[in-house]
Amino acid sequence: MRMTETFVPTLRSTPAEAEIISHQLLLRAGYIRKGAAGVYTYLPFAHRVLRKIQDIIRDEMNKAGGLEVLLPIMQPAELWLETGRWHVYGDEMFRLKDRHNRDFCLGPTHEEIITDLIRGEVSSYRQLPLRLYQIQNKYRDERRPRFGLMRGREFIMKDLYSFDKDEEGLAVSYKKMYDAYINIFTRFGLEFRPVEADSGAIGGDASHEFMVLAENGEASIVYCNDCEYAANIEIAPCGIGDSDNIIPEDNKEMEKVHTPNIKTIEQLTGFMNIDSKKCIKTLFYQADEQVIAVLIRGDRNINEIKVQKVHPCYNLQFASEEKVEEITGCKIGFVGPVGLKNIPVYADLEIKGLVNAICGANEVPYHLNNVNSERDFRVNGYFDFRFAEPGEPCPKCGSHLEITRGIEVGQVFKLGTKYSTALNATYLDENGKENLIVMGCYGIGVTRTMAAAVEQNYDDDGIIWPMSIAPYHVVIIPISTKDKDHMEISEKLYKELTQQGIEVVLDDRNERPGVKFKDADLIGFPIRLTIGKKSVNEGLIEYKLRTEDSSKEIPLSIIAETVINYLRS
Ligand code: ATP
Ligand code: MG
Repeated sequence: MRMTETFVPTLRSTPAEAEIISHQLLLRAGYIRKGAAGVYTYLPFAHRVLRKIQDIIRDEMNKAGGLEVLLPIMQPAELWLETGRWHVYGDEMFRLKDRHNRDFCLGPTHEEIITDLIRGEVSSYRQLPLRLYQIQNKYRDERRPRFGLMRGREFIMKDLYSFDKDEEGLAVSYKKMYDAYINIFTRFGLEFRPVEADSGAIGGDASHEFMVLAENGEASIVYCNDCEYAANIEIAPCGIGDSDNIIPEDNKEMEKVHTPNIKTIEQLTGFMNIDSKKCIKTLFYQADEQVIAVLIRGDRNINEIKVQKVHPCYNLQFASEEKVEEITGCKIGFVGPVGLKNIPVYADLEIKGLVNAICGANEVPYHLNNVNSERDFRVNGYFDFRFAEPGEPCPKCGSHLEITRGIEVGQVFKLGTKYSTALNATYLDENGKENLIVMGCYGIGVTRTMAAAVEQNYDDDGIIWPMSIAPYHVVIIPISTKDKDHMEISEKLYKELTQQGIEVVLDDRNERPGVKFKDADLIGFPIRLTIGKKSVNEGLIEYKLRTEDSSKEIPLSIIAETVINYLRS
């Protein structure tokens, strides 16, 4: 490809709208442009990167017994009503009506439509297992579309669905997909980690996420250095932390303390000269129609996913100030569990062990000191509601946990019979008995992977593509396009490398070399070959890898060989 014939509109400055590096660089380096919030155009170089990502995925899916199909993006509401997800998906679903006023959605995922297909086509055990996949646009009206390709509202996903006779069959499919994912992310050249995950709205009972490790990742990963344990912080179980630090003491008598203008835990700990570990935070949530209270230690952060597991609901958000006042008769900064009536009160496991704690008195401006659970307030149960913290014991081996950040690029789920039950997808076994089909689903964010690759591979000058997904392998830069000799050598090399199957861009623009070098670094070509005076006089080509600071001079005669050897390594 010649630079003058392609379309890579690079920008000199960073667009203000882009907050994170992958978004900034993909815009600046001429890969993407915004169509609307969370909706992007993929320009020619991005298209090549995405195609390479897809080709690797296809190859591994096919090897694992996957069959590629293309399912409808536009899906009828009836199927979603059958599984109950027409309502569960809420505002995240893009909905539309046809001319007859019938409801449709743009597929955020494809369990419904594919299970409908299978219930119509599969009737015998002889037709199973079946593993069908597609690579296609998905539509989710995300609450906060942001970070460019990272969280789009229209994005490309690979999704595979497995259909097996029984749990053993599903275990085989799951393992095949898990292994295929390891191969895929290894072939992308990314540093990643599979972690135990929550199965969320999709449902099911086992799940792993594949995380690309990166500072800007939205996900927190809890992992152990001494064993294999790694989990999304959303589900990492927490016990009672730092119990060794708690000094045993007798239950004292509860007392009311005058605490004017004290509303936050920090103000309270300062005012009373106590540790925030001694405080009980009382949080009020609106869980669909019901208000619930959750108690957690003052120094901890609440994990709402865990709350939703204990108190299942579609929508969990902080209750309004008015609601809290209605229930407690008091302003938010002074609320507490003592005397709470008529609503479920759940407490974190650590609350149980707190002796002589401090909490709001449900009266302005007072707090209560020497509060003890059981004696002074009632709870509906003690559960694990908090986020793990670094240094806590590993739930598998007891060693210390660490926390790092990652970008979720893929997820695999064991669905079991959730969708086959809802949609009545069954088969007849060897004995003519009817059984439910056992399912799994397996997604990879194709466009998010592109962003994650940049997030993990860049420097001050631009993108550093891993070779397997770079848009091109090599850029050839003639120092002067006006110099006949420079151009002759460049053209010859361009032809030779291209013939050898190497993907080359010839930067034949009539620009200063500095401009071309800057663009080459920004775009992220893995190999740069520069043709100048020395090439003409001594037959030497400047050979520079994007990953290295210094360059080498290599004789023209062995350039192709050098490039090919590097590509192979
Ligand atoms: P998240 O928790 O980040 O919202 P998810 O768990 O809802 O994602 P899945 O339903 O598991 O996503 O989808 C499979 C893959 O699709 C994800 O692992 C991710 O790589 C990608 N993906 C999901 N949502 C988006 C999005 N809004 N933009 C780009 N890629 C996405
Ligand atoms: Mg997911």
